[in-house]
Amino acid sequence: MNIYADNAATTKMSSIAIGAMLPYMEEIFGNPSSLYSIGQQAKEALEDARERVAKCLGCSFKEITFTSGGSEADNQAIISAARMGERKGKKHIISTAFEHHAVLHTLNKLEKEGFEITLLDVHANGIVTPEQVAEAIRPDTCLVTVMYANNEIGTIQPIGEIGRVCRDKGVLFHTDAVQAAGHVPIDVVAQNIDMLSLSAHKFHGPKGAGVLYARRGIPLTNIIEGGAQERGKRAGTENVPAIMGMTAALEAACGNLEGYAARLTPLRDKLIAGLRTIPYSALNGDPEQRLPGTVNFCFEGIEGESLLLLLDDKGISASSGSACTSGSLDPSHVLLAIGRPHEVAHGSLRLSLGEDITEEQIDYIIESVREVVTYLRSISPLWKDLVSGKTPHILSE
Ligand SMILES: *Cc1c(COP(=O)(O)O)cnc(C)c1O
Repeated sequence: MNIYADNAATTKMSSIAIGAMLPYMEEIFGNPSSLYSIGQQAKEALEDARERVAKCLGCSFKEITFTSGGSEADNQAIISAARMGERKGKKHIISTAFEHHAVLHTLNKLEKEGFEITLLDVHANGIVTPEQVAEAIRPDTCLVTVMYANNEIGTIQPIGEIGRVCRDKGVLFHTDAVQAAGHVPIDVVAQNIDMLSLSAHKFHGPKGAGVLYARRGIPLTNIIEGGAQERGKRAGTENVPAIMGMTAALEAACGNLEGYAARLTPLRDKLIAGLRTIPYSALNGDPEQRLPGTVNFCFEGIEGESLLLLLDDKGISASSGSACTSGSLDPSHVLLAIGRPHEVAHGSLRLSLGEDITEEQIDYIIESVREVVTYLRSISPLWKDLVSGKTPHILSE
């Protein structure tokens, strides 16, 4: 059996997305800045895509900037808010300890420039509350950036309520919605979101395309200098095929959010219930406030990497921590942020399901994980110490 269960890392492109791209590679390949017909046709397609993306988010086409993906959108949103704040003498930014590195590393850079960064603690259930945000806001706060849904554990933040707090206090609010877009409903107006990032390859679109939504009146700072594309805010010839693929994928996903959740949620919950029966395991993050397809567990006494390799032998593609941190010896900053000790955080497994997963495949995953965990424990010195009582268990049986 072959099961791709790493959709939070990237997704397979849909035939809808591929079909929407082909004409812009084969026929209408012109540069949207060129004045002849195939250039202008590409330009029209691009502007049509902008309106369609805006509709999915509930905003105006003027508020949409196409980027090379989620990382670039995060960088540009945060840098833009920082430059705006700086001009008013406001150099304090609030975020959370479990953001994606595209956010955390941009904040590190600003900190070196003299910005003060407050990273809010994340509750053990993987949620940051609006009250925490309200308490942290100061007169010199220029930005709050809180991710919509966490990429490792899948928990969904109370974005509308956090947006309300920020709007009431007159502070800009950005959300990295890369895991949320195309997976859960988003309405930037109702949720008081000032800036939002999304990425096409997380909802069956192509890699290398994303969107930065910035509410009218928010001046963007260029990350890439050059030509006057994207109203002068993002230089570089537009990736028209990818933008067309992204737009088609986003429309398809947003048109089917209810069906997607209705189909995936019971399968996700079956997976959670099954994995919970493995002794000394724990679900990471709130059981309900989570994405329809994302499940993350810790298993005591094993290494996540070995678990992944053995699952791969069984045809299951999964992940341990985020793709960006694998290869590093540090455990996931997300699991540490929700209070998992190092020893436990090392033994983590993320399974992010695709919409086409079947109940049989869920059963196969549960049995495979159980087998592999049992095997790894049987050869683990760590586990031996836990069983003999030499080191105390952290998770309960
Ligand atoms: C994947 C991801 C990103 C990065 O998006 P890219 O398009 O790969 O640059 C940023 N934030 C989150 C939460 C993600 O899951």
